[in-house]
Amino acid sequence: MTTDVAPFIAIDGPVGSGKTAAGRKLATRLGHMFLDTGVMYRAITYLALQNDVSLQDPVALTRLASHAELKLEAGSGEESRVMVESVDVTDELRSPEVDRSVSAVSAVSGVREVLVRLQREIAEKGRIVMVGRDIGTVVLSGAGLKIYLDASVDVRARRRHNQLLESGSDIAFETVLADLRRRDELDSTREIAPLKPAEDAVTLPTDDLGLGEVVDRLEMLARGGSQLVKDGGDG
Ligand code: C5P
Repeated sequence: MTTDVAPFIAIDGPVGSGKTAAGRKLATRLGHMFLDTGVMYRAITYLALQNDVSLQDPVALTRLASHAELKLEAGSGEESRVMVESVDVTDELRSPEVDRSVSAVSAVSGVREVLVRLQREIAEKGRIVMVGRDIGTVVLSGAGLKIYLDASVDVRARRRHNQLLESGSDIAFETVLADLRRRDELDSTREIAPLKPAEDAVTLPTDDLGLGEVVDRLEMLARGGSQLVKDGGDG
C-alpha cells in the first residue's frame, strides 16, 4: 500500500487556505518530511527589517538572501523551526510587520532564486510535503501530487484573525482582512512565480471542511495519487 504514496507532494494556496496546518498533518500521517516555504520568505523579510535593508532595493535584498545562514528543520509533525545565524527566529516571523512586508520581498527574482535552490536541496533528502505558492508550478513541478487549497476571502481572514488572537495579538478583523486582500493581489499578480494552481493540480475548496476532513481527503489523494504523476524530475 505505502508503495503507492506520492513521494513529492506540493500544496499551494493563498493565506488562510489551511495549507500549512493540513500539510503538516498530512506529512505526519504519511511519514514524509514537511516544509513550509513561507517561513523562508518571512525569515528574509525579518532580516531586512532588522537590518534596515530597503524593501525597494532588489539588489540588497538578493544579497541579504544569498548571505543569510538559514537553517530549517524540515521535520515531520512539529512546527519547522527557523534559525538565522544560529538564532531561532521562528516566533518573530508571524508579526504584522512581517505580514505587511513579505510580499515585496518575495516578488524579488534574486531572492526567489536563492530560496528555490534551497527548497530543492531539502527535497532531495527524501519524501516530502512542501507547502507554498509556487511549489506545484515551479519548485517541484514534477511532483506526483499537486494540491491547490482555496477558501473564500472571509473564511480565510477569519482563520488568520483567530490565529493572531491565539498568539496574543489584539489586531482588528478589518486590518487582517485588508492585509490578506492586499497580499492575495500582490502574490497572484507578480511577474515571477505568481500564486496560481498548476495545470495538473487538484483544487480543493476548504470553506466547509474542518482540518481533519481536509487531511483525510489529501491522504486519500496521496495514497491513490500515482495516476497524477507528471513527466519531469523531482525538482
Ligand atoms: O504562506 P505564508 O503566508 O507564510 O507566506 C508568506 C509570503 O511568502 C506569501 O504572502 C508570499 O508572498 C511568499 N511566498 C512565496 N512563495 C512561496 C511561499 C511564500 O512567494 N512558495
